[in-house]
Amino acid sequence: MKEILYKSTRSEDGYLKASEAILKGLADDGGLFVPTEIPKLDVTVDELSKMTYQQVAYEVMKLYFTDFTEEELKNCINKAYDEKFDTEEIAPLAEVDGAYYLELFHGKTIAFKDMALSILPHLLTTSAKKNDVKNEIVILTATSGDTGKAAMAGFADVEGTRIIVFYPNGGVSPIQEKQMVTQKGDNTYVVAIEGNFDQAQSGVKAIFGNKELAKEMDEKGFQFSSANSINIGRLVPQVAYYVYAYAKLYAEGKLAKDQKMNVVVPTGNFGNILAAYYAKNMGLPIGKLICASNENKVLFDFFKTGEYDKNREFILTTSPSMDILISSNLERLIYKIAGNDAVKNKELMTSLTTDGKYVITDEMKAELADFYGNYATEAETAEVIKETYEKTGYVMDTHTAVAASTYKKYVAETGDDEVTVIASTASPFKFTRSVMNAIDPKYDELGDFELVDELSKIGNVKVPNAIEEIRNAEVRHNNLVEVDGMEAIVKKFLSM
Ligand SMILES: *Cc1c(COP(=O)(O)O)cnc(C)c1O
Repeated sequence: MKEILYKSTRSEDGYLKASEAILKGLADDGGLFVPTEIPKLDVTVDELSKMTYQQVAYEVMKLYFTDFTEEELKNCINKAYDEKFDTEEIAPLAEVDGAYYLELFHGKTIAFKDMALSILPHLLTTSAKKNDVKNEIVILTATSGDTGKAAMAGFADVEGTRIIVFYPNGGVSPIQEKQMVTQKGDNTYVVAIEGNFDQAQSGVKAIFGNKELAKEMDEKGFQFSSANSINIGRLVPQVAYYVYAYAKLYAEGKLAKDQKMNVVVPTGNFGNILAAYYAKNMGLPIGKLICASNENKVLFDFFKTGEYDKNREFILTTSPSMDILISSNLERLIYKIAGNDAVKNKELMTSLTTDGKYVITDEMKAELADFYGNYATEAETAEVIKETYEKTGYVMDTHTAVAASTYKKYVAETGDDEVTVIASTASPFKFTRSVMNAIDPKYDELGDFELVDELSKIGNVKVPNAIEEIRNAEVRHNNLVEVDGMEAIVKKFLSM
């Protein structure tokens, strides 16, 4: 198999093995790690269509993580995609109203982040062993709600690791907050910050970039790593479910040989849709990549105009995991459409830091033809939840609804009737209040867990374990700091 190395999107310094890139998370120059090339699938769709999720995942990951042995990688996969998921299929497809919903929410925290974060701890600890790392690994993560919990669930009590999660105070749903502050595990730490997600993310990036702190950490036997979607160890596992979905639809006769499949992805940090783009570049017959935004529609504007401009009001919506103005993973796409030009990419990213915006060239814009961007307003998001429920009985969450609504706009605009997979990124039980309010405002009188029971009744779905667990769980974390207090609390947790 061809060896794949990883390099930064911002310079030509150093080519790392997969395990080294996974350990580092972010390159020293602030860039993201990208594979030197996107490998091609070396099995046929016929073969894939007979495989389990775990087997498909192996076929994808072996092409990227080429310094892992077969045994190491299979071990990671089997530890990740096991009974933690409430279905053997891991990522089942539901056919609803003319589209296929790829349900990525059957893991431990009932959101799609579980797809990658259930495997990342194993990739990371395996990488540490392979590279003779003796330090304890400290995972530092900013979350808009779902990443934090999914990362903690993945890392809780994993030997040789600690995890510290920052979330925007008031910027996550009540259920998300309860999920986080009740997190078990002696190696888990949760902190609310007086700021929004972008500030949390910038704060984490600043701590990562602090060389003095890194030195101090090393002396104390610690080193940072990232569980954010910038880690290549998160991106690659996400490629697998697009391959799996295609193979599954093919096996069921819903797709003919080589027939194209469109995908719609509710997008925030651009990790999930970038995984679909990688899948397409691996040779999977994907047609359009439909990028769905909520009212924080930076990406929609970007695809339309070629200008990325984060200078705008930050809007809190009912799809908080997509309330993002800086889509970090977009950098990997920018690098690629710049012709793998680190200098050009760095120039644009510097402009993003200093002016909050950048403009791509016409040649780069031409490379974006595979993408279609649109967005859904809050009213449209609620509307599609209600409409779909009334028509089919299927209840979707608010993030998935942003995608469903955007898909309707896409079809109305283009008339494209290709088979379409909508990435369904969260269980409706995670955003119960917004979902139930969309169906009928009368539900707003009910308490959070009454709503859960009511949703179970009207949607005819069992309450997921993830929700049952937090009903009566005790609060274990109670920390609130200013944005400029983030570093201090990290040191406090590590007794530095
Ligand atoms: C994180 C998240 C998203 C956005 O995914 P990105 O990879 O950041 O674009 C969408 N929906 C839900 C429920 C999420 O948790």
